[in-house]
Amino acid sequence: MSHQLAGHCHCGAVRAILDTPRAAADLPLRACQCSFCRTRGALTTSDPEGHLHIEAAPGSVNRYRFGLRVTDFLLCAECGAYVAAVSEIEGALMGVLNVRGVDLAGFEGRDPDPMIYDEETPDQRLARRQDRWMPVALVEAQPSI
Ligand SMILES: [Zn+2]
Repeated sequence: MSHQLAGHCHCGAVRAILDTPRAAADLPLRACQCSFCRTRGALTTSDPEGHLHIEAAPGSVNRYRFGLRVTDFLLCAECGAYVAAVSEIEGALMGVLNVRGVDLAGFEGRDPDPMIYDEETPDQRLARRQDRWMPVALVEAQPSI
């Protein structure tokens, strides 16, 4: 059985649909402790067996990079919401979804797992992401909300 979990940023210019064989309750919920994620209250999820589709109105996604500069944090250009983090890994776009940024239903009331990745080397980071992140398709199109 497959689930389609959908949400969108505050203004609706960016929509995210997570296709996953799992129910929301069975997906991880992570609170990355880096300064970017903490200040935004980001809570992320991903399913290596799932697929993330992001629909963004043309010109509505800004990309922000910091630290190792290998990750694009996708921000709505209109409302500023942090939607997802993506990185190209071996030619494929992989990423995690910010449950908070798109107000994804089904995660309410859960205690997230605090994650600290500061000590990772770039290689360890890549290996972790290959293990946990999911394929992402980013499509520029007016979201069909
Ligand atoms: Zn927005």
